[in-house]
Amino acid sequence: MPVTRLISRMRAAMRPRRPRPVILMYHRVAVARHDPWGLAVDPERFEEQIAYVKQHRTPMSMDELVDRLRSKTLPANAIAVTFDDGYRDNLVNAKPVLARHGVPATLFLATGFINQNTPFWWDELATMILASTQAIRDQQIWPGEAVTLDWGEAERSDIAGGWRVSDEPRTARQNAYLAIWRKLQHATAEDRDVAMNTLRRHLGTAQDPLGKPMSSDEIRALLSDGLVELGAHTVTHPALTLLSRLESRREIEGSGHRCRELATKCVNGFAYPYGDMSLEVRSDVASLGFSWACSTKGGFVDGKQPDIYALPRVAVPNAPIGTLVGLATA
Ligand SMILES: [Zn+2]
Repeated sequence: MPVTRLISRMRAAMRPRRPRPVILMYHRVAVARHDPWGLAVDPERFEEQIAYVKQHRTPMSMDELVDRLRSKTLPANAIAVTFDDGYRDNLVNAKPVLARHGVPATLFLATGFINQNTPFWWDELATMILASTQAIRDQQIWPGEAVTLDWGEAERSDIAGGWRVSDEPRTARQNAYLAIWRKLQHATAEDRDVAMNTLRRHLGTAQDPLGKPMSSDEIRALLSDGLVELGAHTVTHPALTLLSRLESRREIEGSGHRCRELATKCVNGFAYPYGDMSLEVRSDVASLGFSWACSTKGGFVDGKQPDIYALPRVAVPNAPIGTLVGLATA
C-alpha cells in the first residue's frame, strides 16, 4: 500500500466517528453469580453507564425517540434506555440511578409474571442446576418424556460461576441447563410449571428476592414519577412464532391490556420475547394498537430508513460502556 494511502487510513481511523442513535437493552441491575445469558449488570457499573449516557449522549424516552425518527428530527447522539421482563431489581437498583441522573427509560413488561413469588424460570433454572452441589443420578419424567439429570460433584467452573451460553458447555451441569432450557422455552406455560415443580422437588428452590418479577404495587412505584414508561412484552414470554396465530395475538393483546391498566402514560411500544418475530407477528402488533416495536437484533437505529416495528437494540454488557463499539464516539 502506498505510504500516502496508509497515512490517510490511519488518520481516518483516529478521527472521532459520528455518533449514531442507539437503543440500549438491559434486563437486570444486580450481582448475579450464575447468569448464563449475561442479563445482569452490577449496580455500580450501571451507575457508571448511566452517568456516561447522561454526559455524552442525549437521552430520551422511546416514545420521543420514535416521534423524532418519524419527524426526521432525531439527533445523531440520541439514546434510549430499555429494560425487558420486569425484574424487581429494576425498581430497587436501577430506578434510583435513573432518577439521580434524570435519564428516562422504558420497561417492556411480561405481564403474566406480575406478583409471582419465584424468580423468572430461566434464572431459577440456572441457579438450581448450575449452583447444585449435590451429585445426582436420577431420571425425571418430563410431561410425556424422560429427561436425565445425571451429574457428579460440582466442577470448578460450575462453582466459580461466570459461564455463558455463548461459550461451549463443558460440564454436565452446563449441558443439562441448556438442554432443559430449550425444552422449557418450547413448553406451554402449564407444562413448564409442572416441570419446574418437579425440578424444585429434586434440586430445592432458588431464592433471589431481587430477581423476582415485580408486584403490581412495585410496578406502580416504578412508574410513579413518570420517568419510566411501560411497553408490552407478552403475557407468558413465549417465542411468538411457535404459537398459533390466535395464541400469539392473545399474548400480544393480553399484555397490552394489562400494561394499559398499570400505566400512567399511553402504552405505544412492544418488544418481541427472544426477538422472535415474523411478518404476521409484526402486523398483529401493529393492528393490536402498538405504534412501534423493538427487536433484540443488535445495531444502531437507522435515522433515514428506520424499521419502526423491528427497532434494533444494543445489549449492554457488565463492562464499561465506552467499550461498546460506536458508543464512545460522542
Ligand atoms: Zn424478555
